[in-house]
Amino acid sequence: MNDPSTLPQGQGRPEPGRGATGSESPRAESRGERLVAGVSAPDDAQFDAGLRPRSLEEYIGQDRVRDNLQVSVAAARGRSEALDHVLLYGPPGLGKTTLAYVIGNELGVSVRATAGPVIEKPGDLAAMLTNLQPHEVLFIDEIHRLAPVIEEILYPAMEDYELDILIGQGPSARSVKVPLQRFTLIGATTRAGLLTSPLRARFGIVHRLDFYTDGDIAEIVRRSARILGVAIDEEATAEVARRSRGTPRIANRLLRRVRDYAQVRADGHVTGDVARAALSLLEVDDRGFDEVDRKLLRTIIEKFGGGPVGVNSLAAAINEERDAIEDIYEPFLIQAGFLDRTPRGRVATPRAYEYFGLTAPGRDSRLW
Ligand code: ADP
Repeated sequence: MNDPSTLPQGQGRPEPGRGATGSESPRAESRGERLVAGVSAPDDAQFDAGLRPRSLEEYIGQDRVRDNLQVSVAAARGRSEALDHVLLYGPPGLGKTTLAYVIGNELGVSVRATAGPVIEKPGDLAAMLTNLQPHEVLFIDEIHRLAPVIEEILYPAMEDYELDILIGQGPSARSVKVPLQRFTLIGATTRAGLLTSPLRARFGIVHRLDFYTDGDIAEIVRRSARILGVAIDEEATAEVARRSRGTPRIANRLLRRVRDYAQVRADGHVTGDVARAALSLLEVDDRGFDEVDRKLLRTIIEKFGGGPVGVNSLAAAINEERDAIEDIYEPFLIQAGFLDRTPRGRVATPRAYEYFGLTAPGRDSRLW
């Protein structure tokens, strides 16, 4: 019944790179086309629904988060209560939306989905809240991008399950309280740090999603290949997994491109050689780095002497937006040990120098 692809949805996810006003910058657009970006690209959408795990059992990796949620969901169900509000944060493409639908499914309720930038008027959110049935899930993606006036509606809704509505204007204005059903808000954000503290404090369950291990990503590739009917061998699975930056969305995207290549240039079977040839044609290197990653690291090394360099200077030097660096590019580079974030700025690690065949300057050499 609770097939996520058929669940009633509110306003859909906004397209990546579009601001609250629907305006778009050329740079943001090109970002959407980046093959190894965790953000959703236009052609991901049609596959996403089919590839999304539906239950906690099917959800691969993130063991700690999964175990914790299993307990929380079972407890809420046991008491016939709404689940406490859940905040999920972590880089794009790691499975926050998927998890929101999984939670709804495990609770046996519908999920209404919307996103911070698409809620333009307080009335839009009020309408969604008043339409919720008991224990249903309201999923707000990019919750850090809610306008302040809209965010304020959420406070009493989350805490007391009521709406404070102001009727009329001027001296005759009065506030009316509208009771809501007990519901669960699931918020997703790439950066929990951008959430205001009153909002953050209202989430009882907060989980951070981390990049997946190569083993988990390989498992995801196997599962997606099964669903899509792709014949892929173990060596090729490992090749795709290694280049997926620990991100399921990228793994699924690379799998589709590798499948295309196998169909056109080989006999349809994805072997290790086919995968390597396909991925090198796509210019995704051994580490899953693409041109932007290399440019970012090279700029720190060559223009800024290896760092530290402030994120604003770095953004200007590589002609990217600061947010894109912080949300999309650097989390993986940091986790892979190529970049360090220090109080004085970003620093290229010895591993980054090695990657380009350079020798890292010894720490002491800077003293002389
Ligand atoms: P986010 O909301 O964090 O940007 P999504 O939930 O949209 O990411 O996940 C992107 C895609 O990755 C989904 O379509 C799904 O197929 C896949 N995916 C995410 N997490 C998992 C997982 N744990 N197991 C299998 N596939 C996953």
